[in-house]
Amino acid sequence: MPWYRKLHWQIILGLTFGIAYGILAASNGWGGFVDDWIAPFGTIFINGLRLIAVPLVLASLVMGVASLSDLRKLSRIGGKTIGIYLVTTAVAITIGLVIVNVMQPGEFIPPELRDQLMSTYADDAAGREVAAGAASDRGPLQFMVDMVPSNFFAAASNNRNMLQVVMVALFLGIGLIQLTKEKAQPLLDFFGSLNDVIIRLVDVIMMLAPVGVFALIAATITSVTGDDPSQVIGLLSGLGVYCIAVLLGLTIQTVLVYPTILKLFSPMGLKTFFSGIGPAQLVAFSTSSSGATLPVTMERCEEKLGVSEEVSSFVLPLGATINMDGTAMYQAIAAVFIAQALDLGLGFGAQLTIILTALLASIGTAAVPGAGIIMLVIILEAIGVPTAGIALILGVDRILDMCRTVTNVTGDATVATVIAASEGQLSIPNLSEAGDHIRMTAPS
Ligand code: ASP
Repeated sequence: MPWYRKLHWQIILGLTFGIAYGILAASNGWGGFVDDWIAPFGTIFINGLRLIAVPLVLASLVMGVASLSDLRKLSRIGGKTIGIYLVTTAVAITIGLVIVNVMQPGEFIPPELRDQLMSTYADDAAGREVAAGAASDRGPLQFMVDMVPSNFFAAASNNRNMLQVVMVALFLGIGLIQLTKEKAQPLLDFFGSLNDVIIRLVDVIMMLAPVGVFALIAATITSVTGDDPSQVIGLLSGLGVYCIAVLLGLTIQTVLVYPTILKLFSPMGLKTFFSGIGPAQLVAFSTSSSGATLPVTMERCEEKLGVSEEVSSFVLPLGATINMDGTAMYQAIAAVFIAQALDLGLGFGAQLTIILTALLASIGTAAVPGAGIIMLVIILEAIGVPTAGIALILGVDRILDMCRTVTNVTGDATVATVIAASEGQLSIPNLSEAGDHIRMTAPS
């Protein structure tokens, strides 16, 4: 197949043209045209992915749990998955804290820019503080209560409630395991067939990906810069070191930590892994939403990395909702950066508090654009830094959001691969004969 017919190259082309066109449009004041005639294609693409996310999680997870056939296996895989998710997130936060303490990006922000940012984004920051206030004014166990919906349709009607849909699917799957084969079969056939249909729909929607990505990137650039790109240059000169700190951390996590984990705990080749997961990373970058990317992540992990459906359907939806290494790392760096910029020293105790709160905050962060900065408010409160400080970083949040979402999605795929390898459920594609898979045997 010629290179330009390959999906990831088509998406990269869409991305490149989108960036070029976005810059051109912003410099010529075409923002209105982009909003009216370009942006809708991006919205259609992202809506298509969101549309299939809830039914996909439901169908694939019910099938996944039902095929585990006994509850011991479910709790073993569940325990392992959550354990690895927590460890990778703690590693990400620690790397972030080391970087921000060494680089001290807060020292690079000139006082005039700081004051200007605080007044420009004051209203916006206040809005997010209110959103975060609603989240933090609740008891310590509220997050558990939130996971169990009282009405399935209410849960399924909002993609933000993905964790509730995961719970419903787990319940249904557990119920199905208890039935006799004859009784369970009709429902299994239904969910199995729904699952297959949706996986096909991912292919259909992904045909729109190059155009969708073009539109999303162009629209993001014009909306971030307004019609005055020189503003962005001014912003980047003050916040540049902060952005570099976040990007450096995300890069270390994505190209060093995950490959090391894959090397140590799975037979997966890195080239296979990154070329398999590439399109999901590109979709994550352009949509800034690991929830919207989930259908693509699942499809790539199953078809290109050889992760069994049983593992991917359980590990990935859970990961998209609770495992956000990129977000947690960004929250840690941002919290310390704001403290540095406002001249507030943070001791060892405060840094330890950041590790714990960022771990919890990233679990509670919804897999949608911009959710990470809302939960950042809770971390700032915990360490006694004025929450209005988020005004300092709002201007560059969108671009960092795109990058941290890539790390989030790569982390989920890494853990799915490792869990599949540990369960003997990874059949690495044999690259010499496309379509052939080598099944790994379960470790004894
Ligand atoms: N956009 C991120 C995600 O969906 C969440 C965040 O950090 O804002 O993974």
